[in-house]
Amino acid sequence: MANSKHIIIVGAGPGGLCAGMLLSHRGFKVTVFDKNSEVGGRNRPIKLNGFSFDTGPTFLLMKDVLDEMFQLCDRNSEDYLSFLPLNPMYRLLYDDRQLSVFSDSANMRAELDKVFNEGSEGYDRFMATEKQRFNKLYPCITRDYSSLTSLLSLDLIKAIPWLAFPKSVFANLGNYYQQEKMRLAFSFQSKYLGMSPWDCPALFTMLPYLEHEYGIYHVNGGLFQIAKAMAKVIEEQGGSIHTDSEIDSLIIENKVVKGVKLANGEEIRGDEVIINADFAHAMTHLVANGELSKYSPEQLEKREYSCSTFMLYLGLDKLYDLPHHTIAFANDYHSNIHNIFRSKTLSSDMSFYVQNASVNDPSLAPAGKSALYVLVPMPNNDANIDWDGHCQAVRERVLDTLGERLGLTDIREHIECEKIITPQTWETEENVYKGATFSLAHKFSQMLYWRPHNRFEELDNCYLVGGGTHPGSGLPTIYESARISANLICKKHRVSFTDLKQNTWLKK
Ligand SMILES: Cc1cc2nc3c(=O)[nH]c(=O)nc-3n(C[C@H](O)[C@H](O)[C@H](O)COP(=O)(O)OP(=O)(O)OC[C@H]3O[C@@H](n4cnc5c(N)ncnc54)[C@H](O)[C@@H]3O)c2cc1C
Repeated sequence: MANSKHIIIVGAGPGGLCAGMLLSHRGFKVTVFDKNSEVGGRNRPIKLNGFSFDTGPTFLLMKDVLDEMFQLCDRNSEDYLSFLPLNPMYRLLYDDRQLSVFSDSANMRAELDKVFNEGSEGYDRFMATEKQRFNKLYPCITRDYSSLTSLLSLDLIKAIPWLAFPKSVFANLGNYYQQEKMRLAFSFQSKYLGMSPWDCPALFTMLPYLEHEYGIYHVNGGLFQIAKAMAKVIEEQGGSIHTDSEIDSLIIENKVVKGVKLANGEEIRGDEVIINADFAHAMTHLVANGELSKYSPEQLEKREYSCSTFMLYLGLDKLYDLPHHTIAFANDYHSNIHNIFRSKTLSSDMSFYVQNASVNDPSLAPAGKSALYVLVPMPNNDANIDWDGHCQAVRERVLDTLGERLGLTDIREHIECEKIITPQTWETEENVYKGATFSLAHKFSQMLYWRPHNRFEELDNCYLVGGGTHPGSGLPTIYESARISANLICKKHRVSFTDLKQNTWLKK
C-alpha cells in the first residue's frame, strides 16, 4: 500500500540497497543517491578489458539472511541470482603445511586428521558448543539497540555467559584445539572484521562456526550481482536510484534532518534520511562542524577502527590452477599482526588472500585467462604511510610473495591489466574514514548499544545502515542493519509490515 512518506538514502552500498528494497516494498517513496556511476559501493564490480572483479566482498556467508530480505519483498532470491556453494570452501596456506577447509564434517575431520597430529576430536566439540553460542547470540544481536533499556531483554541477559567476555577468539579456541596453527584455521576469520584474532571478542567464534555449518557461496557473475539484483527490486517497486549523484551535505534544521544537498547544489527534501555512506566519513563530511557532540570529529578521532587493505586486481592472459579462495598466513604471523594493528608499519612477510573465482565462474575472465583478486591486510591510515611513495614497492613485494608462496613465479609476464586500491585510495576515492575498510572496530565498547544507533541518536529523522552501525560489518549483518532501520521507520510512521519469523533457518 503506497504512502506519502519520502525516504532519501545516501549511498547505494549493500545496506542502502537492502533498506531501499524493504521500504519501497512497504509503500514508501524511496530515492537512493550514490556518488559512483554504479550501485554496490564496496560490493560493486571492477571491469577491466573483459575481466570482472568484485571490489570487496567475495565470501557470501549466511545466504539464508539474504534470502529472507528477498522474501520480505515477496520475492525469491534465486529468481534474481544464481548461487554456487563452495566445497572445499577455501585453502589455508601455512609456512609448513596447507589445509583444505570443507563445509561437510566428514571431509573436514579427515583433512584435520591428515594435517594436524592432534586430530579432529576438538572439531566436534567446537561445532557442538559454538552452535549453542551462535543460536543464543544471533537473535539477540540482530535487533535494535537504540535505547539503553534494550539491553535489559531477558534473552540477552540469558545469553551474557555466551559472550565469554573478556576472552578473545584465539583464547576461546583453546577450549578445542591445542596447536596454534589449528586455532588459526578457526580464528583468521577475525580479519573479516578487520581485527586480530588475539583482540577480537570471543563471541565472534561464531564466524568460523557459521562457515562450517552453513557454508560459503559464490554468486555466479560475481557477488556484485547481489547489489544489482537489489537495485532492480527497488526499481520494480517504484523506487528511484540516482548514480553519479554525490551528496554534499545533510540539510539540518534544529537537529532535525530535512533532506540532502547534492554536490550540484540541488536540494531534495524528505521525511527520513538513511545514511549508508561510511559512518565516520559521513559525520565528518556531510554534517557541519559543531552540529554533533558524541560523534564530533574530535570524538570520532578517538574511536578505534579496523585495519585497511591493499588490493591488487589482476587480469592475466593465462589460466592459473588455484582454488577459488586461498588464504595465506605470513610465515611469521605474530609479527605481521603486530605490524598491522600495533606498530602500524608495513610487513615484507605478509599474510594475503587470493580469489581465483574464474576457476568456477568462467564469466569473470575471457577464455583461457584468469581474474585474480589479491587482498593484503594493511594498517589503516592512522599509520601515516605515504602510499604515493610506497605503492609500487608494495605491489612488487605482493607479486614476489605470490611467486614464493603460490608458485606463480611467471605472473609478471602474464599481467594484461591491473588495478590497485591502497588504504589511501579507500579513504580519498571510496570515502572510507581512515581507509578502515571494515569500519569501527568490533570491540565490546563499540558494539550493540555502544555502536552508532540505527536510529541515529544525534539527529532526528536520520537512520543508519551499513557496516558502521549495529550489528556491524559483513554482508549478512549489514542486511540486518537495513531490516532494523526499515522496521523502525515503519513503526514511527505507523506503516504496517510483515516481518518474517526471523531465524527459522537456524540449525538446532
Ligand atoms: C576488501 C573488502 C573485502 C570484503 N569482503 C567481504 C566478504 O567476503 N564477505 C562479507 O560479507 N563482507 C565483506 N566485506 C565487508 C562489507 O560487506 C562490505 O564492505 C560492504 O560493501 C559494506 O557495505 P555498506 O552497506 O556498509 O556500504 P558501502 O559498500 O561502503 O557503500 C557505501 C556507499 O555510499 C556511497 N557514498 C559515500 N559517500 C557518498 C556521498 N557523499 N554521496 C553519495 N554516495 C556516497 C559510496 O559511493 C558507496 O557506494 C569486505 C569489505 C572489503 C572492503
